[in-house]
Amino acid sequence: MLEGFVPYPEAFVTKYRQKGYWVDKTLGEEFDEFVGKYRGRTALSCRGEQVTYRELGERVNRLALHFVRLGLKTYDRMILQLPNQPEFVYCYFAAVKLGIIPIASLPAHQDAEISFFAQFTNARAHAVPSGYKSFSHQELSRRIRGRQPNLEFTFVSGDPVEKDFISITELLHDRIEERVSLETLEQYRPDPLQPAVFQLSGGTTGVPKIIPRTHNDYALNFKRSAEITNVTMNSVMGIAIPVSHNFALCCPGLSGTLYNGGKVVLIPSTGTEDVLEAIQEEKITIMPTPPALLIRWMESGELHKYDISSLETVLAGGARLNPEVAKKVGPVLGCSYHQNLGMGEGMLFWSRKGDPEDLLLNTQGAPMFEEDDEIRIVDENDKEVPAGEPGELLVRGPYTIRGYYNSPEYNKRAFTKDGFYRTGDVARIYRGRYVTVEGRIKDTINRGAEKISAEEVENHILAHPLVENCAFVAMPDPVLGEKGCAFVITKGNQPLTLEDLTGFLRKQRHIAVFKLPERVELLAELPMTKVGKIDKKELRRMIAEKLKTL
Ligand code: AMP
Repeated sequence: MLEGFVPYPEAFVTKYRQKGYWVDKTLGEEFDEFVGKYRGRTALSCRGEQVTYRELGERVNRLALHFVRLGLKTYDRMILQLPNQPEFVYCYFAAVKLGIIPIASLPAHQDAEISFFAQFTNARAHAVPSGYKSFSHQELSRRIRGRQPNLEFTFVSGDPVEKDFISITELLHDRIEERVSLETLEQYRPDPLQPAVFQLSGGTTGVPKIIPRTHNDYALNFKRSAEITNVTMNSVMGIAIPVSHNFALCCPGLSGTLYNGGKVVLIPSTGTEDVLEAIQEEKITIMPTPPALLIRWMESGELHKYDISSLETVLAGGARLNPEVAKKVGPVLGCSYHQNLGMGEGMLFWSRKGDPEDLLLNTQGAPMFEEDDEIRIVDENDKEVPAGEPGELLVRGPYTIRGYYNSPEYNKRAFTKDGFYRTGDVARIYRGRYVTVEGRIKDTINRGAEKISAEEVENHILAHPLVENCAFVAMPDPVLGEKGCAFVITKGNQPLTLEDLTGFLRKQRHIAVFKLPERVELLAELPMTKVGKIDKKELRRMIAEKLKTL
């Protein structure tokens, strides 16, 4: 068993097996099955390159054999930082086949985040793109390996590949299966009750939290999501958001589409024209998207230039879909939508096809399973609130984790004694088991569905030599929903501009760009609550008011 992993209690393991939720297959076995079933069909398409299921199977097996040859083993960790390209898919499935745990990192992560993952998970491998935007991931990997000798291998997609690093293209050209039997892979079978994938939580603490998803629960996650969203062999899933995100990887995303024999189109950018062109060229039928992107597409002046009539469904999740925006999806894009309230930690709510309009517009859906996705809405004393009243949403079920990896102290706060995950979301129950998200009590910023921990950014801001104290809060944004605003008290009330601060955070602290503050407000003092904490509610109100007047 992987140390630091919180397993499901025995009684729940028995129950989830008996009820057929868990089938005790590894994600690698699921992979072999769908590859065997759909061999001649197209599995992937990216920038005009088509990959059949047969080719996908061969490449994944070849890469897995190379991983074994290099000495990687079951339960090793691999930081998977590849963008939307076929190499992501090859590395992901080669890893999970062997039981190597991919850490679903983002290309946007920088030294601060990757160092933490390398150190905290003791990762042995890092997979990076050779060229991606203007950032050198290979330099990043080299810097981190200098500090973290446990990070022994860097796998690079594309060219050029720097000295001592391993070219994924070369591995894929080297037909190792002609020298080493494929049966070798059978010796590497992870326990389906153990973590298959490490997802990341924006978290509410100084460092991101690692979410261990097991083979059993992750398979259930994508299979049931695919059923609810009607993914079939005829589906063409367009993925423009980072494919490593839980939403794109598994809800139903890449995994749920391949499981059903459909085609996955990896779109390398979220740029409106790139997306519209991909929908037209690839005849995409279904796409996961946060509301922020949906709004951009719908408002684009370029929309009329493209034939997007193939699009049947958008899956809107990651942030609240405003009912006014929701109403326009049908008329503007000519397709239907499912609302999704999801979380890397597991629990998924979906609106269903045929839901009455008020449910569709005003709620984020109902849990995937009738009774075993357990939900509670509670007050600050953990007492259930009367039906229909707002409170914190607590969740437990066959694909919701029981603890973050290696975080025993934090887990005591983030989970109830009986294993419910405290989502930090404030929700109401609507007509039975539908929920409406009304806000949150967790200290995060939801920037176009990318979650930012306020405390994490505050710790970096506090390192600035001019900063005496600060608070990082959400300010409203018409497209992204929220952006981060830094309220700062400077030493001796010296001036500090946004550029000064973000320059420092980028160059000295090396944090991902999406986490940077987009506004700085200087204050002589920060408002406090009665119990002596910084009053963030008041700060959010202040900045929202101020923005209205600009
Ligand atoms: P992540 O694990 O990054 O997907 O973040 C999960 C969190 O995103 C949830 O706990 C919510 O706070 C937020 N979230 C996801 N989907 C929605 C939605 N449809 N409406 C409102 N908030 C959402």
